Amino acid sequence: MSGWLAARVAEVVPASASGRVLVLDVPGWPGNLAGQHLDLRLTAEDGYQAVRSYSVASVGAGERVELAVDEVPDGEVSPYLVQDVRPGDVLEVRGPLGRYFVWQPEDPGPVQLVAGGSGVVPLVAMVRAHAAARSPAPFRLLCSVRTPADAFYRPELEALVDDAFRLDWVWTRAAPPGWPGTPGRLTAAGLAAAALPPEAGPTVYVCGPTGFVEAAASLLVAAGHPPGRIRTERFGGS
Ligand SMILES: Cc1cc2nc3c(=O)[nH]c(=O)nc-3n(C[C@H](O)[C@H](O)[C@H](O)COP(=O)(O)OP(=O)(O)OC[C@H]3O[C@@H](n4cnc5c(N)ncnc54)[C@H](O)[C@@H]3O)c2cc1C
Repeated sequence: MSGWLAARVAEVVPASASGRVLVLDVPGWPGNLAGQHLDLRLTAEDGYQAVRSYSVASVGAGERVELAVDEVPDGEVSPYLVQDVRPGDVLEVRGPLGRYFVWQPEDPGPVQLVAGGSGVVPLVAMVRAHAAARSPAPFRLLCSVRTPADAFYRPELEALVDDAFRLDWVWTRAAPPGWPGTPGRLTAAGLAAAALPPEAGPTVYVCGPTGFVEAAASLLVAAGHPPGRIRTERFGGS
């Protein structure tokens, strides 16, 4: 793998109440598979460096790389990326990284995606790859977010819903007006109602804050999904 690449910020777009999409131009970026991430490095004037991982929302060839960053209150790096970075700024990235939490369009099998908060980012790349390939593989995404204002990529995801792609939301604190049901965390019943059943044999990708991933993975195993079919990516935190 190559080393650090200069990444010029091309665009910054508000993506949620606390998040932003960063579009980067990265000369030398070799392209990436859906689900991969990169390391991003910031260097302060005094030479202090901080490195964090971010999933790549864009997919395929090309030197334009899209990230979506949620601000972690009191975090070291994410508040800078969400509030301070401007077009024209230059960051450094290294990647793409990860071969396990990846979906490839050649895979015809059913897929269940489960996202908590900004954990939707690598799953968005998978949904985009699925749509771009016109893959008939059954795809479902179950997204857990606090409120509608916290949902990343909602209009794009809703526009992609079709016979091969189903989208469900779990609103943990406040649902959109007119939404049936009560806000609350993902439950066994909610999972059973929205997700592909174990009998369908899906590969399951779960991504989000550590606590969400552990809770969702436990529900999936309790529902009968073989642990070997569940791939997880933890974003950190408790
Ligand atoms: C493979 C991978 C992919 C990732 N992709 C993304 C992505 O696409 N978008 C994105 O926004 N983040 C992503 N993350 C998380 C990201 O790497 C940082 O951890 C996050 O931005 C917080 O960094 P920070 O410097 O602001 O916080 P820090 O200063 O590192 O942490 C401050 C405090 O917040 C807690 N914390 C750290 N991360 C989280 C979190 N995710 N949720 C809750 N609490 C947390 C820490 O435990 C600590 O107590 C990814 C992480 C991994 C490992």
